[in-house]
Amino acid sequence: MTLRLTNTAKTYPDGTKALLPTELSVGKGEIVSLLGPSGCGKTTLLRIIAGLETPDAGSDIWFDDDNVTALSVERRQVGMVFQSYALFPNMSVRKNIGYGLKMQKLPKSEIDARVTEVLNMCQLQPFANRAITALSGGQRQRVALARAIAPRPRLLLLDEPLSALDASLRETLRDELAVLLREFNITAIFVTHDQDEAMAIADRVAVMSHGRVVQSGTPEDLYRNPTSSFVAGFVGNAMTLSGKIDGKTLHLEGGQLTLPKKGDGHTIFVRGEDVQIVETGPLQGTVETVTFLGTHYRIGISGITSYVIASIHSGHQAPKVGEKINVAISPEALMLLPKEVATA
Ligand code: ATP
Repeated sequence: MTLRLTNTAKTYPDGTKALLPTELSVGKGEIVSLLGPSGCGKTTLLRIIAGLETPDAGSDIWFDDDNVTALSVERRQVGMVFQSYALFPNMSVRKNIGYGLKMQKLPKSEIDARVTEVLNMCQLQPFANRAITALSGGQRQRVALARAIAPRPRLLLLDEPLSALDASLRETLRDELAVLLREFNITAIFVTHDQDEAMAIADRVAVMSHGRVVQSGTPEDLYRNPTSSFVAGFVGNAMTLSGKIDGKTLHLEGGQLTLPKKGDGHTIFVRGEDVQIVETGPLQGTVETVTFLGTHYRIGISGITSYVIASIHSGHQAPKVGEKINVAISPEALMLLPKEVATA
């Protein structure tokens, strides 16, 4: 199904404007991630879509052609997966997954068939008869997903579903989840404050800040064409290059760079992978730190700006701490963003 929100806002009784009037459309089978820092309104938006929170007057929520704004959570037919699993600990995996179907009073044969189907899809067949307490965190989260999917919801909502897991499991499950959600071919909204997670799972990411969706686009689009300083910094950790801008020239402590266009009134951003350590280049700096990260090194460089900037260096050898180096940044790698849009 498609989801559409028009003029949807939320003011809590104490006056907190958690969500400013928002427009959001999610296509059939599309996976959209709501990404933003703590307190930006992601959970509020998700709870409004689920029907767990009443939005301000004038808000409208559409599931296909149905206006569901006044519909209760039970009648919206959404599946939900939370960080805290919310499973029944003493029931078996099979019983947990079948719970929603039993509530819908489906015939036992139908329940069994559907539970078996999602058990297979989520690769939980070997654990079907285990109690939840006898599963690992990752397995529990797969059960929570299977349980949400089994009633064939119109829409699946996931709120930080991987947050409780340790880092390596989180990464594995993230990639599994990306595949599974596409297999289910279900329209889904995924809330996270982790940009890697959003980029790995979603077809489209809606970046939120202070109760607003500030930019929405494919992961590549957000990374390459951020429209605000906030998005540039939040998605892919772009760094600012503060210096004096004079037309197409940026004067830095360590040298000069050419901008792709006149930069007056803008903040200049660059990403670590575009800060190149070269034999001869327009900028001079000193190596402060060298961190080996397996696929690349992260080199902290002082002297280019008044603070240390990072270069992502993928060569087999790295310069040494204290070494004087030359640095180049191509004009196309410099992102010029309007100063006034900075919100964080
Ligand atoms: P997090 O990642 O920390 O969960 P979030 O982006 O999901 O954050 P929300 O939980 O939607 O943010 O909260 C948005 C804002 O609304 C915050 O400033 C929060 O303090 C406020 N808020 C949330 N619930 C209530 C409430 N019941 N009453 C008043 N203010 C609230």
